[in-house]
Amino acid sequence: MPEPPGALETRGPLAEVKARIAAAAKIARREAEDVTLVAVSKAQPVEAIHALIVAGQRVFGENRVQEAQAKWPALREANPDIALHLVGRLQSNKAEDAVALFDQIHSLDRSSLIAALAKAIDRAGRRVPCFVQVNIGEEPQKGGCAIGELPALLAEARAADIPLAGLMVVPPEGVEPTPCFALLAKLADDNGLTGLSMGMSGDFETAVMLGATHVRVGTALFGERG
Ligand SMILES: *Cc1c(COP(=O)(O)O)cnc(C)c1O
Repeated sequence: MPEPPGALETRGPLAEVKARIAAAAKIARREAEDVTLVAVSKAQPVEAIHALIVAGQRVFGENRVQEAQAKWPALREANPDIALHLVGRLQSNKAEDAVALFDQIHSLDRSSLIAALAKAIDRAGRRVPCFVQVNIGEEPQKGGCAIGELPALLAEARAADIPLAGLMVVPPEGVEPTPCFALLAKLADDNGLTGLSMGMSGDFETAVMLGATHVRVGTALFGERG
């Protein structure tokens, strides 16, 4: 059922997160509208997602292609103005599925994936903007390219005609994230990119103050994942 236009919530977790984004933006003399809130709905049931849609949220993020394929087609059919972002690691053999389903991809991080995505974008005729993920903490278990590899990877993505949205980072856990965000902003600037996907539930205000254009927030909107 379409929601009446007046139904947007002014209280609750969504309104609160938006108010915190606006307050952080104001401190940094930025416009809150320049920050896209990506509601990360991984591991959340369809009912919880639906509640957030009713509250007015339109941009969502998932970290697994298969989970998104199971949850989103029906939700999107009922709400065609929704944008879906992939925030988690992407296997090359899922590139075609990802390009078909997602409107933006935040986890481009290696040559093999550039090739797979370029092919998928070409076949689908869908130019899905991609953020290049940077592994600033140099953590082996985490996605993202090393800082030293970034210029070459960006050149390769540009040569393959991948639409580049910007850079993305997931800072190491238990470490003050501020320097990571500042470094990501500098790397983007050095490489002629404007989009910055950074900031999660614990640190999105800091990220906004340091220039985030996309914050990826799960727990602060939905509560803990089951
Ligand atoms: C889960 C996840 C988030 C959201 O994390 P919260 O701490 O729940 O806000 C953001 N980005 C990525 C890549 C994630 O996997």
